[in-house]
Amino acid sequence: MKITYSIVAPIYNEIENLPELYRRVKEVMDSSGEAWELVLVDDGSTDGSTEKIRELARTDKAVRPVIFARNFGHQVAITAGWDYSRGDAIIIIDADLQDPPETILELAKKWKEGYEVVYAVRAEREGETWFKKFTAAAFYRLIYSITDVKIPVDTGDFRLMDRKVVNVLKQMKERHRFPRGMSAWVGFKQIGVEYKRAARMAGVTKYPFSKMFRLALNAITGFSYFPLQVATYFGFFSAGVSILAIPIVIYMRMTGAGAFTGQATTLIAVLFLGGAQLISLGILGEYIGRLYDEAKGRPLYIVRDAPEE
Ligand code: UDP
Ligand code: MG
Repeated sequence: MKITYSIVAPIYNEIENLPELYRRVKEVMDSSGEAWELVLVDDGSTDGSTEKIRELARTDKAVRPVIFARNFGHQVAITAGWDYSRGDAIIIIDADLQDPPETILELAKKWKEGYEVVYAVRAEREGETWFKKFTAAAFYRLIYSITDVKIPVDTGDFRLMDRKVVNVLKQMKERHRFPRGMSAWVGFKQIGVEYKRAARMAGVTKYPFSKMFRLALNAITGFSYFPLQVATYFGFFSAGVSILAIPIVIYMRMTGAGAFTGQATTLIAVLFLGGAQLISLGILGEYIGRLYDEAKGRPLYIVRDAPEE
């Protein structure tokens, strides 16, 4: 049977959420009257989610289990979901039910109107700390202002994409991935639909600050050269300032004003420039490390088992 909707959920230790996720997705998708599948990508869970996924797949053929050999990260799990989905429209959804499955039908409505990427915009967020909300808001705006692609703000990975779009994304083999940026980059007819992001149903967030920071770096380095250019701008600025300073210092010395004597000024200047140079080196390192990863050309993920076709 021809499958219309593929719902992709990355799973990392979500055992308490899995049955409810399946139940709600099934209820909503059955009501659409069209064929659907639920691609559950197990990203190296250690809490028994893997068994639960297998069990769901045994009882319902609509569940497609993709089991990773270890934890490869959320973005890579989404990528595997694209690779293993067969539907005409692919929907990415979080497994913790923060993205209500009922919203899928609203996304599908826009898709039927002819839009090829329908992203869900977080109009409200429930049950998250002010720190998470603040860093997320700052992150979306920073990315928006410095990247070359206009990535919609307050938008996560929850979205529907047409088969055409996913076929293009499947050709994008970059290692350090930022799926929402990639899906903005490809173009096509895109539109946002607002929704209320719920609180996590059970369990804890799998995104500690360190992972959010990594994701932000992927987004910035993947879609912008701005950090590399900062060193150039700063170099011109400090060279300009020092050239201006030379006649001023000469003048002050000649008029007898005891300006810029002592070690403190020298020390501060040296430390400041040393720091600026090290930061620039670190930025270069971020890009070079990524180049190195690309050059190795390792597979993006390793599956322990997945459906044949
Ligand atoms: N996730 C994953 N691999 C990871 C981390 C997270 O597959 O290494 C999944 C997780 O199971 C969930 C989704 O990614 O379905 C979003 O994670 P989470 O809800 O923890 O992030 P938050 O909503 O707090 O930003
Ligand atoms: Mg969540």
